[in-house]
Amino acid sequence: MKLISLNKTYPQDWIRQITHIANLFFEDSKVAKKEQEVDLKVHFTSQVDEDYTVHATCELQEQASGATFYTTFDQPYETLGTDHEQNIRLKRAVSYVLLEALEQLTDMHQKWGILTGIRPTKLYHKFRKQGYTKEAIREKLVTEFRLSHEKIDLLERIVAVQLKTIPDLDTIGDEVSIYIGIPFCPTKCAYCTFPAYAIQSNRKQGRVNTFLDGLHIELERMGQWLTENDMKITSIYWGGGTPTSIEADEMDALYETMYKHFPHPETIREVTVEAGRPDTITSEKLAVLRKWGIDRISVNPQSYTDETLKAIGRHHSVQETIDKFWLAREEGMNNINMDLIIGLPNEGLEEFEHSLAESEKMMPESLTVHTLSFKRASEMTHNRDKYQVADRKTAEAMMHRAHEWTDEHDYAPYYLYRQKNILGNLENVGYSKPGEESIYNIVIMEEVQTIIGLGCGASSKFVDAQTGRITQHHNPKEPAAYILTYEEAIEKKIEILNELYGKKVQK
Ligand code: SF4
Repeated sequence: MKLISLNKTYPQDWIRQITHIANLFFEDSKVAKKEQEVDLKVHFTSQVDEDYTVHATCELQEQASGATFYTTFDQPYETLGTDHEQNIRLKRAVSYVLLEALEQLTDMHQKWGILTGIRPTKLYHKFRKQGYTKEAIREKLVTEFRLSHEKIDLLERIVAVQLKTIPDLDTIGDEVSIYIGIPFCPTKCAYCTFPAYAIQSNRKQGRVNTFLDGLHIELERMGQWLTENDMKITSIYWGGGTPTSIEADEMDALYETMYKHFPHPETIREVTVEAGRPDTITSEKLAVLRKWGIDRISVNPQSYTDETLKAIGRHHSVQETIDKFWLAREEGMNNINMDLIIGLPNEGLEEFEHSLAESEKMMPESLTVHTLSFKRASEMTHNRDKYQVADRKTAEAMMHRAHEWTDEHDYAPYYLYRQKNILGNLENVGYSKPGEESIYNIVIMEEVQTIIGLGCGASSKFVDAQTGRITQHHNPKEPAAYILTYEEAIEKKIEILNELYGKKVQK
């Protein structure tokens, strides 16, 4: 943790951005209130010239060593821009000079430059839609955002695959996608902050049944609205929790309700069911998935080292993952995703190589490589000292191996997102065999259409296709709260949908 003083009072949005940049180098950095003893003193200047060039300078002094670093930034623009645009440009310039100064101080290089947001590809698409050429986008990302060419190469590859997978990506806002959250799991993983409540105890307390009753009603009501408004569904994603933690007959009943009430089932491009925990997969449940033509499932090893699985609280073995993968194959599932996580406790390059070697035996249609992130509410973050995780260099080497291995085995990156407190300031990347990309993962990451969330912990994002404005609604995470509020939530979501799409439900 570093305490930083600034030469003057800056607006709150600038302070937030300055803190984000400092956090790329030091955990939990803070901008000091007046007269505190600080670790770093920062003096910025920033201005816009008459020819619209934006200038910024930074003088960074480390108090302990007395070392001082100076950096400068100049970026010409063609127009003066609105006040809002000027503020963004100046804030970006200040971020840039601070990043360079901190890189000099720490000798750390941030390949994502000043980008601290979750979706770098969304920024790329924004410039693309504004008419910038590929070369002009690269230039902007280097000179204004200080991105490395390595990361820009990755963005370019991802965007190209996305546009091939969804050629109508820029107009897909006419349709919606659906997320359905089942908030139960056999046990809770140590890094998890998803709604994932122990299925057994919740079943004993009757919460599984009451939750399912509510979800059937949500599916029905939302299907009714979509039908009455003649909306097409692009993709459906069953997540959670683990949607296969409920019984086969309960899954069957839910899919029946979904297909009975959702409009135009023949034009839905993809339905995914997360079967992340191998200990929930059975032949019976796979038969239900097959019966309803579920296109894609996810069986998630996370690691192929038993000690790691034990350490993170996933009460299943490596062998069970492998067995369940082959069972799913035998039962006809021909689009299987597998997740791996870089940086799990006590894992280094050797364990990750082992995970890749095991993956090679199965060759799932897609492989999603996550980097461990320390989410505030997770058990792992609360007891961080208990867990030994890879250092920045090792995490980077593991991610590099993931890029190499996927290239060697004909997978291409097709979506990417970043998280707060992510190990090594890295990223999560979904790789896929050609033609097996998840449409849902693309539309949710790029925020190109409305996603209606049903069930526990489901976030709805209502995207205004004209303005890009996003309105959010969050269903409660806990089954007990969901049971009490789902009817209200349905009404609220329908109200927002009516406002956005301008049609009224005929009752
Ligand atoms: S299986 Fe997934 S949702 Fe369930 S506890 Fe583990 S990380 Fe969370």
